[in-house]
Order: sequence, then structure tokens, then C-alpha cells
Amino acid sequence: MNARIMVVEDEEALAILLRYNLAAEGYEVETIERGDDAEMRLYEQVPDLLILDWMLPGLSGIELCRRLRLRAETRRLPIIILTARGEESERVRGLSTGADDYVTKPFSVPELMARVKAMLRRTNPESISALLKAGDIELDRQSHRAHRNGRELKLGPTEFRLLEFLMRSPGRVFSREQLLDGVWGRDIYVDERTVDVHVGRLRKAIIRGRERDPIRTVRGAGYALDDKFGG
Ligand code: CA
Repeated sequence: MNARIMVVEDEEALAILLRYNLAAEGYEVETIERGDDAEMRLYEQVPDLLILDWMLPGLSGIELCRRLRLRAETRRLPIIILTARGEESERVRGLSTGADDYVTKPFSVPELMARVKAMLRRTNPESISALLKAGDIELDRQSHRAHRNGRELKLGPTEFRLLEFLMRSPGRVFSREQLLDGVWGRDIYVDERTVDVHVGRLRKAIIRGRERDPIRTVRGAGYALDDKFGG
């Protein structure tokens, strides 16, 4: 079963960005704008992980976190607190709110995704499937290795993330912009042609001899991993 993640964030653009990226990872996402609304909702249903902004209308993230730690149902709920850069985040840490992790804004989306994944792996290992399969390619997120027809693929870190991203949604066409957001993150400025360069490297690494090219170039649209190839 997919892990359920609640995001409490009053900045609409950030809430949308988080929802989009978490959903792309396969999580079930619920976003809430106010601290007091989140508290009510958490009485009804406890998610597998909570991403909580510090400054919220209604009830602050810090206070909500403190209250959640007092309740048996949410005492062990994994919580990541989002804080603004600078003194504030130092202060938040000093408050010992009981949060499991802190992320300072602005943050890189891939880094936050990695922290979410790491935390769920610790607390709820079944919710993360380590092994992805598409055609004759296998990718193990835990050992960070990929194989095709049993031979290990030599991939650079970006190529690995790119392959992982494509393998999560076989058959789906991603624009260069979507690939940039998903693989490089929104905060980093990378030219769209960079995507082409890395797709080229990825192809080189995974195709040997007469093996089929599993990556489809869709003119004017982007790239997709074919869902039926090899094997
Ligand atoms: Ca806020």
C-alpha cells in the first residue's frame, strides 16, 4: 500500500509543488492550509508521515507538533518541519518540538523527497518498494544498482535518477521541463538541452549490441520509457 502523507502548508504554490512531487513518487497526498484544520483532521485520520510548516494560520506548526507528541495515536508519527532560513530555523531546533527532521526553506525538492523516503524506510519499510522493473531492466533503489538482462549498468548519479524517474511511470511521456523538475529539482537552473545530453548518456549505458532502445523520443513532447521491451 502506498504511504499516506499529509502536507500542512499555507503557501499555495509550495503546497502544489509538494503535492505534485509526492504524488509522482506514488504517495497518497493530502494538503491542508491551516494548523487548526490539520489538528482536527489528525484526530480523524493519522497519515504515515506529516510535512509541517512552522508558520501557519490558526495554530503554529511547532505547537501542533508539541500537541501531537502528547497523544498516543500520533506520538510516533514521523514529522518533518519546514522552517524559514536563518535564525528562525535555529530557534525552531532549540525549541525541541519533537519533530524528526527539519528542512530549511528554500529547499531542493529532490532533497526533501530523499528525506521523506529515508524516513518512511525507517518507520514503514513496506510502503517503499525498493525494486522497480520495466521490461528487462531492474532498478534497486536500496542498493542503488540497476541491471539489464542480468548485467550491471554503469550509470552516473544523474542517469540513475533519470532512469528511476522514468521507470516509476512506464509508458508516460514526460516533457523536458517535467524531467528537469523531477530529476534535477526546480530550484536548480539547468538548460532543457541538458536533459537531452543525459538521456543520450543513459541510452549509451543501457543499450548493448542489438538490444532495443527502451527510451522513446516523442517529437515536440519529450521522452517516455516504453512499457514493453526486451525480456
Ligand atoms: Ca507558512
